Amino acid sequence: MSLRIPLEVCTDTGLPSCQLLVRAIHNVLWPLEAWGRGWTCHWVEHDDAWGYCDFDRLRIELAPDLLTDRMDILIPTVAHELTHYRLGPEVPHGKSFNALESKLAFRLGVVYKQSATGKTAPTKGGSKHE
Ligand SMILES: [Zn+2]
Repeated sequence: MSLRIPLEVCTDTGLPSCQLLVRAIHNVLWPLEAWGRGWTCHWVEHDDAWGYCDFDRLRIELAPDLLTDRMDILIPTVAHELTHYRLGPEVPHGKSFNALESKLAFRLGVVYKQSATGKTAPTKGGSKHE
């Protein structure tokens, strides 16, 4: 599977469109499903997170540093936030969350590192997510 990342640049931020990027990945994961009504995606810096899924404002936010410094975790971060988007606010990080996140990331070609304990340790070990 090839993943085409849209390169249209947002005139406000000079960054590729966050909305197009996340929606393109959404469409790879769920090709038969429409994008959530009212949801938007934005490049937003957070002190303690690479990404954020805001259910009140129907927003997925990604740190712009992902494009400049951490391309290695861009796709895993989108997979993480789309897991939140998919499962909704009632499902916290945990076993079922991790199961879906791993499945989505795998389908996007993300390779998770295997720790010594045998527990799957995604590249988010040293990264920040909300
Ligand atoms: Zn999270």
